[in-house]
Amino acid sequence: MTPFDYVRAGSMREAVELRSRSPNAAFLAGGTTLIDLMKGGVEKPSLLVDIRRVPDLDYIKVSSGKASLGALTKNSDLATDPALMKAAPMLTQAIAAGASPQIRNMATLGGNLLQRTRCPYFRNQAFACNKRSPGSGCAALTGYDRGHAVLEGSSQCVATHPSDLAVALVALGGEIQAEHISGQRNIPLSEFFRPPGETPWIETSLQRGALIVFVETDLPPEARRSVYLKVRDRASYEFALASAAVGLHQDGSRIIGARIALGGIATRPLRFATAEASLIGRTADEAAFRDAAAIALGEARPGRENGFKVELAKRTLVKALKLASELQQ
Ligand SMILES: Cc1cc2nc3c(=O)[nH]c(=O)nc-3n(C[C@H](O)[C@H](O)[C@H](O)COP(=O)(O)OP(=O)(O)OC[C@H]3O[C@@H](n4cnc5c(N)ncnc54)[C@H](O)[C@@H]3O)c2cc1C
Repeated sequence: MTPFDYVRAGSMREAVELRSRSPNAAFLAGGTTLIDLMKGGVEKPSLLVDIRRVPDLDYIKVSSGKASLGALTKNSDLATDPALMKAAPMLTQAIAAGASPQIRNMATLGGNLLQRTRCPYFRNQAFACNKRSPGSGCAALTGYDRGHAVLEGSSQCVATHPSDLAVALVALGGEIQAEHISGQRNIPLSEFFRPPGETPWIETSLQRGALIVFVETDLPPEARRSVYLKVRDRASYEFALASAAVGLHQDGSRIIGARIALGGIATRPLRFATAEASLIGRTADEAAFRDAAAIALGEARPGRENGFKVELAKRTLVKALKLASELQQ
């Protein structure tokens, strides 16, 4: 591991001020992913600003129409909060589907959103990776791409986004509140995760050095009747090959509102507004769900080994919509 300095921040302001002192500093929250990347030499911060003792960042507040989630809230608390479970099952199911109980006990909401890709070429320094080393190329484009993106990949990167929670948050919408050196700013969740384009190393709209303070997620009527379904190579402790966060609002069997986001198949968590719109006014049945899935995956461009993900994602989405339609509203 490359040597680094360590400081502990006592407040949000102190955290951003300490971090602004070094261009190569990083915040330390649960450390469950940052420390791994440092041990592997993938991330080399010269200064770690420990934010674990910053007060007022660990809370879950659920009210009508919104949930406010502090950035230092543990993933295990998010996964088991009774009010959140009732208001938006897709959120708690998404968190519970990630990592292991031990990791969820350490991991935080802010760190979950900012975790880096699990692309093996990113994590192995023997290979070129534009995310790890801007301008070096992308070994995945000519390498083994079974786990890679079939949507929104670019000529510079086809790595998938790893967070399950982010998929559910993008489906629901809302915003992220961040503390910058110049004050607080809101970033809509719909604009937070960036497609790779020509600059895959810029993964979010969060300004360098900014601290995520909380996420305020919308709780539309679709949130109550919602599901997160994750398909992976093994039943636990594994990232998604395809996942779906869906919510339905129904008048009897007629759909009057829908939310759809998919994970594991794209370079960022993606919401599918056109597929959602296709469901409005239709009876909640398999035919409607299949049509929505065909629309959602219509632009998919698989590589050599990941063509199966297109059909897998469609089936995951259809199954998730079916499960949601069977829930009591
Ligand atoms: C073996 C393993 C399996 C996993 N499986 C899954 C899975 O299936 N699904 C899934 O979604 N996740 C999975 N994870 C990822 C896990 O959820 C993340 O490691 C965790 O959520 C990161 O949180 P943390 O607090 O430990 O972040 P840290 O490791 O402390 O930080 C991660 C990054 O976020 C930054 N950061 C942290 N908090 C803030 C903040 N408030 N403001 C600004 N920057 C911040 C840090 O500087 C760092 O760059 C897995 C992890 C491991 C190790």
